[in-house]
Amino acid sequence: MIFRAAWVVPVDSPPIRDGCVHVARGRITCVQSWAGGVGIPAAGSAVGSAEDVLNLGDCILTPGLVNPHTHLELTCYAGTTPPAPFWSWFRELIRLRGGPDSLERERGSVADGAWQSLRSGVTCVGDISRRNIAWPELKRVPIRKVCFAELLSIADSPPRNPAELRSAVAEMAEDDLLTIGITPHAPYTVPADQIRAAVELAAELRRPWCAHWAETREENAFVAGRRGVLLEMIERAAAAAGIDGGGRGSLDYLEHCTRGAPPGALAHVNYVEPREIEQLAARGHVVMYCPRAHAFFGHTRHPIAEMRRAGVPVALGTDSLASNQSLALLDEARFLATCGARETNSSSPGDQAASPEFSAAELLRMITLVAARALRLDDQIGSLAVGKWADLAAFRVATPPDDDPVASLLGMESTVAGVWVGGARVV
Ligand SMILES: [Zn+2]
Repeated sequence: MIFRAAWVVPVDSPPIRDGCVHVARGRITCVQSWAGGVGIPAAGSAVGSAEDVLNLGDCILTPGLVNPHTHLELTCYAGTTPPAPFWSWFRELIRLRGGPDSLERERGSVADGAWQSLRSGVTCVGDISRRNIAWPELKRVPIRKVCFAELLSIADSPPRNPAELRSAVAEMAEDDLLTIGITPHAPYTVPADQIRAAVELAAELRRPWCAHWAETREENAFVAGRRGVLLEMIERAAAAAGIDGGGRGSLDYLEHCTRGAPPGALAHVNYVEPREIEQLAARGHVVMYCPRAHAFFGHTRHPIAEMRRAGVPVALGTDSLASNQSLALLDEARFLATCGARETNSSSPGDQAASPEFSAAELLRMITLVAARALRLDDQIGSLAVGKWADLAAFRVATPPDDDPVASLLGMESTVAGVWVGGARVV
């Protein structure tokens, strides 16, 4: 099968005008110009007969987008909570999730979220499920996924300890599209030894791990040893579970919990010091920044500019629909390109001046190749390269681009003309 489009955007090499992508058995075998003059031809590949060619006309063909941080089981809470500071939202979310029929409601909304993702050009998600209910639902949807089993030690349902985490993982059935992931929730909900056990389990299984980290000032204050800063019910549960940051800085505490383990992916990392950004860079963790959720909670300016300068890889994620308007990752990147440069609560001119401007190519990398790296799938997806899965998205923009298809794609409204996962059409 050969996909031909007015523009092929491999991400890890320059866009190809009138390009084509050859696919066999679900994998990319060649990426080149239709005329064959440029691109990356694979040895022995040849243009097939006319029936084998899908001509997508004036479309921009990109790798399928990768959303490394979401909670699809919260799709059912879309629009139920207004923008608010994190902790009042969190209290409300706990209340909503405590209802008698919440398990069935959440289970029923996973596939809905996955299909919303696919229809917006997202072909892979890093999905966190609190009660490990999402993976059987996602298994039935032809989207690529890393299903993260979540360890939350202060919860009233499993997995609440390393043994329960291990049995949750044992239940999960991987396939070509489903990879197991592990996530200790956050430093204020899981004790250090259990965070360590979780990342060691991920290392033992050679699977990715992620965690919510440095999301709020209160979390950092708690880790640093202050009390009376979190929601009272959480602080009480944390004390009962023996959770104690030991008076450390947030990144020192992370290192304390994960020393020796492979690097992971950290959701948010909204509040870090310059020294901690250097620590992040040295350790090789990927940061998963969720710009629209960030604005929803009214956080101060995200240190993404400083992270970029320090060489910290930053991917974009949507988080869940309980704190975002859509699961469309392109809109997340467009938001960062426009509103993101004037972040909420940052009134000082210094903050404004420090706001980064991102090239369209850089934004696209954050929702493809860097996002794939967050899921440790960057050798499999995230760019159009020989040997990777043929996870593709074809977009049509109002004015077909003359020269810079990536700027057009990020700069104007687009419609999704088709989506393929492992070479099979799904949208
Ligand atoms: Zn999250």
